Amino acid sequence: MISRKLILSTNNRHKVEEIKNILKGLPIEVLSKQDVGLDFEVDEDGQTLEENSLKKAQALAARVDYMVMADDSGLFVDALDGAPGVYSSRYAGEEGNDENNNLRLLEELKDVPLEERGARFITVMSLITEDKEVFTIKGECKGHIGFEARGSKGFGYDPLFIPEGYSKTFAELGEDVKNKISHRAKALEGVQDLIRDLLKVK
Ligand code: IMP
Repeated sequence: MISRKLILSTNNRHKVEEIKNILKGLPIEVLSKQDVGLDFEVDEDGQTLEENSLKKAQALAARVDYMVMADDSGLFVDALDGAPGVYSSRYAGEEGNDENNNLRLLEELKDVPLEERGARFITVMSLITEDKEVFTIKGECKGHIGFEARGSKGFGYDPLFIPEGYSKTFAELGEDVKNKISHRAKALEGVQDLIRDLLKVK
């Protein structure tokens, strides 16, 4: 069987490995943009996860003739009208400061009772085929925001997010559980089905 390549817009090793692992049964070689010698950044200035993931995928598709994929994720809190949403990584101002982002979220929710602390993580993945056909795949994980940070595994808002059906945070539950129920895991299940269809394999 001919092996096709899928180039990811991320250079995040953890994401690359997670995607490789999920797609390992398929005749597809998963590579990061770095693996194919590309080094460029995309301004993530879209108003939605869809816009940002598409922008990243299109920037990559313009540079290679392989199948490409990009993702964008965020945490959407009901009591905050969906904030931090597309701004999740810079909620406290500085890009990628998880601790301050968590502190700000706790502060914003300090008077919000348990039953109104509902939230969801969402991932949107944009896949563009070799002939530039665009597919959008979404994954969601519902839960609520705790009253304090708990646990040391994971990243981002993991110490605050308690997924539906559990009493521990993602940061306490760790990768084995998270990789089965997370927004990214759900989106990747969709990607797996899509790639099976595209490659016409079972
Ligand atoms: P990204 O698009 O995957 O880089 O995610 C953007 C931001 O959303 C991250 O910087 C985190 O703040 C938050 N985020 C996304 N996925 C997760 C997750 O699985 N756990 C905790 N925070 C996350």
